[in-house]
Amino acid sequence: MAKTRTPKLLSMKDSRVKNQLEMKPRPLKKKEREKVKKAAKRAERQNQPAIVSTTMFFHYNLQLGPPFRIICDTNFVNFSIKNKLDIMQSMMNCLLAKCIPMVTDCIVAELQKLGQKYRLALKIVKEQFERLPCSHKGTYADDCIVNRVTQHKCYIVGTCDKALKRRIRKIPGIPIMFLVGHQYTIERMPDAYGIRT
Ligand SMILES: [Zn+2]
Repeated sequence: MAKTRTPKLLSMKDSRVKNQLEMKPRPLKKKEREKVKKAAKRAERQNQPAIVSTTMFFHYNLQLGPPFRIICDTNFVNFSIKNKLDIMQSMMNCLLAKCIPMVTDCIVAELQKLGQKYRLALKIVKEQFERLPCSHKGTYADDCIVNRVTQHKCYIVGTCDKALKRRIRKIPGIPIMFLVGHQYTIERMPDAYGIRT
């Protein structure tokens, strides 16, 4: 029977081990360094807990209650007019409570920019809607709405815009009103109000 040889351990003083220990890792190239930095930042962002407002009690937004304030964007107003809906009445039919349709300065500016075709929308907005003043630059209404509802959770957002809906869904406690067929529907409305969604 052949004798099994136990492998000899290298001594730490062995030149082969010493060489390996002294070998320094290759310094990272600039691009690689940036990649590492970016990854670290991303990880940090993902680990941060979302800041939840103190008015949120579990999933119920206590600031929300009648009269409901509904910020409507341009497409919501336009689709409503196309479908011949009385905006205020349809809102009340949907929520079974008093509703205040609202627009911001930049939404009105957007409607003005859209020109003649939207003059009826502009007229209705000016006559029936409450106006929220804007202090920001530019007229990009989506950002304005998102910022507002993030800071003040007392609104419902009326929009048919898919991208805006997606952004609003990420903010806890903000229900979204939109058109389905010839009426409004609300999503993410707390059950506490007894409204079927
Ligand atoms: Zn604005």
